[in-house]
Amino acid sequence: MPLNLTESRKLQHRAEQLLPGGVDSPVRAFRAVGGDPPFITHAEGAYLYDADGNRYLDYFGSWGPMILGHAFPPVVQAIQQAATRSASFGASTAAESDLAELVRRCVPSIGKLRFVSSGTEACMTAIRLARGFTGRKFVIKFEGCYHGHSDAMLVKAGSGVATLGIPGSAGVPEETAMHTIALPFNDLEAIRAAFVARPQEIACVIVEPVVGNAGTIPPNPGYLEGLRALTREHGALLILDEVMTGFRVSLGGAQQLYNIQPDLTTLGKIIGGGLPCAAFGGRADIMDHLAPVGPVYQAGTLSGNPLAMAAGIATLNELIAREHEIYPALERTTASIAEGVSKIARESGVDLTTNRVGSMFTWFFTAQTVTNYTDAAKSNTSAFGHFHRAMLEAGVWLPPSQYEAAFVSTAHGQREIDITLEAARKALATVT
Ligand code: PLP
Repeated sequence: MPLNLTESRKLQHRAEQLLPGGVDSPVRAFRAVGGDPPFITHAEGAYLYDADGNRYLDYFGSWGPMILGHAFPPVVQAIQQAATRSASFGASTAAESDLAELVRRCVPSIGKLRFVSSGTEACMTAIRLARGFTGRKFVIKFEGCYHGHSDAMLVKAGSGVATLGIPGSAGVPEETAMHTIALPFNDLEAIRAAFVARPQEIACVIVEPVVGNAGTIPPNPGYLEGLRALTREHGALLILDEVMTGFRVSLGGAQQLYNIQPDLTTLGKIIGGGLPCAAFGGRADIMDHLAPVGPVYQAGTLSGNPLAMAAGIATLNELIAREHEIYPALERTTASIAEGVSKIARESGVDLTTNRVGSMFTWFFTAQTVTNYTDAAKSNTSAFGHFHRAMLEAGVWLPPSQYEAAFVSTAHGQREIDITLEAARKALATVT
């Protein structure tokens, strides 16, 4: 049955007069899947509620941060208590060191770190730091990997850029992106050749260790190890962008799951418990090249914001305390959902490839294995659009693009598995 979105439609009309496309981030406009974007009023646990009173089972988790579900009481209380002491001071607080210690406990490759307000800032600054540390200019990234919207990273950038079908962005001068080399993911030969072509010129390789921004794409066995070995051999830094995978695919992120020791790591999303917070960190000798100790500049009015620190501390404390319960449960629940829908697709004769790592997954509407962006781009996006709309109408909220990962939270359980499989059975019957 079509959703009643009367109020959302009014709110969208109003927003379009004020915000380009009615949104503050492009994919929220639902252009890739069609239909009106519901306007959310509140959320609790695994469910979102819109302005028309519709309820949705959330597989989106605000693009990843809400691993403990929405309005998780200890996080809410921590934010409330911090807010009574003022929203921001612009001066140092003990909370920054408290959260830094928790991050280092989870991610031991991080010797020192710095907090910023977005993943974009974290990646942009990690790259600047790599260039400042090595004295080299070139950066290797991978097609379909998104490292935020800084100019030099908007090259074959996945995520919203892929959703909108554009190769990069207007407004990025060629000169700004000319030191960015974009290579196919999961292809060690390509990177070997790039190092040979530019000896002593490549400052760093930045990679999403599990790609989430072309849909979910795991690394082939040996791929990350190969990147580690090649970067070491050629004197370049390895930056793991764990903005999405950090605290998600395991408490220590993808680097723990695949046993890879990067030079620098970027973190975001879960680290702030839903508040604007991100970080970059790694080897202390590299991090000490940052101002005020060293010559690489970075700053932020709201960096280390007390509310964000409080939410991050409450989130990480919960994940650390219940690590051995939370991650196996997320694994089981997500496997039941992701593979359950695959099975239904097979029974319904729909071409679907499921990629999953821990509690992040994507249903690609293709029969082909998806190991890089070129494979992902062969998906039938129109079938995905039909599926997305049918699921939404059945009360299940998926990311509104084929090129985004879906996420499961600790608030998802057997009831949610049942709701999803039932909705998918009906939705897949409508996909041709
Ligand atoms: N890096 C990765 C892997 C991401 O998934 C994202 C956002 O989705 C970013 C960086 C940018 O983070 P933000 O949106 O907080 O700027």
